[in-house]
Amino acid sequence: MSEAKTHKITLIPGDGIGPEVTHAVIRILEATGVKFEWERFAAGAEAFEIHGEYIPAALYESIERNRVALKGPVTTPIGGGFKSINVTLRKKFDLFANFRPIKNLPGLATHWPGVDLIIVRENTEGEYVGLEHEVVPGVVESIKVISEKGSTRIAKFAFEYARKHGRNIMKLSDGLFLRCARKVAEGFPDIFYGEQLIDNTCMQLVMNPFQYDTLLLENLYGDIVSDLCAGLVGGLGLVPGANLGVECAIFEAVHGSAPDIAGKDVANPTALLQSAVLMLRHIDEPAAADKVQHAIETVYAERKTLTRDVGGSAGTSQFADAVLAAMA
Ligand code: NAD
Repeated sequence: MSEAKTHKITLIPGDGIGPEVTHAVIRILEATGVKFEWERFAAGAEAFEIHGEYIPAALYESIERNRVALKGPVTTPIGGGFKSINVTLRKKFDLFANFRPIKNLPGLATHWPGVDLIIVRENTEGEYVGLEHEVVPGVVESIKVISEKGSTRIAKFAFEYARKHGRNIMKLSDGLFLRCARKVAEGFPDIFYGEQLIDNTCMQLVMNPFQYDTLLLENLYGDIVSDLCAGLVGGLGLVPGANLGVECAIFEAVHGSAPDIAGKDVANPTALLQSAVLMLRHIDEPAAADKVQHAIETVYAERKTLTRDVGGSAGTSQFADAVLAAMA
């Protein structure tokens, strides 16, 4: 741990289960011994009520200054042209790489033990550019944008990661995205590189996930396959994520605001906690990251204080207490 350093982090607790899981995670992070200064902001509907803006200017400035944010989920109302806060932040800070490691935790009986996959999802293009209009009444046209620049840089990110960590790559897509990945692959002859169509891959992932290692996907496919892969290791309550750009990084779980269980102290904070572990590594606090990860794995291996989404009966705060006890 870097002795005197205080890490200034922008904190967006979010809504739905966001505040509950964020509270649990902050308690655990504070117990690592690493010094944090949290700059806390509302976003989305909550921010609109307070500031009249979905993303307050001060929140943008905070991320620009700190370059690192920890974020809970934010609800995107369906229909009515509401622009996703998540997509807006990713675009604003050009967080082009969405990195999602998918790994089993000990003690959880899943269909496939030993899954170890990395999802690298392009995070700024595809259908998520939000370009749609009504052509004639009753017909909406939605535009999917794929650029050479965007496709090449995410492919480079995936190949560089694969080289650094001794992994191989399966690329899932078509058209320009595919051509760009092939070109980047030529510069990485040491990395095994394969291609597969997305529909077949979804079926193959469910039947035999071990044939894959790092999956490189464009935005929409990455979103869908992330949830599918979360299901392989025990569900959305577990899987972490990082949105990475050249300047800034926002760490957030794969799951959304889960309105069906919000405010009941039943949400699993593991996904945001494992996202925070990724954040600790990013800010160069590997000892604290190892400590938290080890405590999470101890609690799972013991199987005594798990939340109900993974077969237990503990609440969000009880789970956090157990992780804190395992860290002591
Ligand atoms: P969701 O991920 O919120 O929930 C899907 C299912 O998984 C629900 O049954 C929920 O109870 C369960 N679940 C999710 N997280 C859990 C946790 N930590 N512990 C236990 N169970 C958990 O997906 P949704 O219902 O499709 O989306 C709800 C809202 O969240 C939408 O407005 C959506 O736009 C938004 N969303 C936000 C983000 C983000 O902020 N990054 C990501 C995805 C969805």
